[in-house]
Amino acid sequence: PINCEPLKALVRGVPDFPKPGILFYDITTLLKDQTGFAQLIDAFAQYYIDKHVDLVLGIEARGFIFGPALAYRLNAGFVPVRKPGKLPAETATIKYDLEYGSDSLQIHKDAIQPGQRVIIVDDLLATGGTMLATTQLVKQLGGEIVGLTVAIELDFLKGRAKFPDMDVFSLMHYD
Ligand code: IMP
Repeated sequence: PINCEPLKALVRGVPDFPKPGILFYDITTLLKDQTGFAQLIDAFAQYYIDKHVDLVLGIEARGFIFGPALAYRLNAGFVPVRKPGKLPAETATIKYDLEYGSDSLQIHKDAIQPGQRVIIVDDLLATGGTMLATTQLVKQLGGEIVGLTVAIELDFLKGRAKFPDMDVFSLMHYD
């Protein structure tokens, strides 16, 4: 396993974004680092290379940054999971609760064939609500979830507890 301290040093914490009191973990400082980005994708790829992944699902928007790079390394396809109204063909939709209100995510109905082996990628796991909604979309379409993949896990929010029977792989942890 790789040493993640150098990667953590490349993540920028921005206080009071998007609201007062929230510390936002900003990965753009890691992305622009030539060795940092490669090390991150390599670490993901190493973890999944022998797990026969057919599809990498990326969650809009920052899952669109890591997902395709990882899919390329795994010889897998890439599938975007999008905010409502963006996908042109027939979609499946899942609505999920936020702290205030609700949000939805969509996937093309023909994006996953039943039995295909899928991983879901996002930049960060907080409460796990976004990831949980995406797992429900995959199940609706009959995909088999091999694992959930994030660069950063906010351990104190215990998002991982929403996935007792799934493999959650995260590289950097914050408490
Ligand atoms: P959750 O649904 O509470 O797990 O929140 C995770 C979603 O919110 C992911 O799509 C993240 O991109 C986004 N998010 C929440 N907090 C942060 C943060 O500190 N940095 C970057 N993205 C965040």
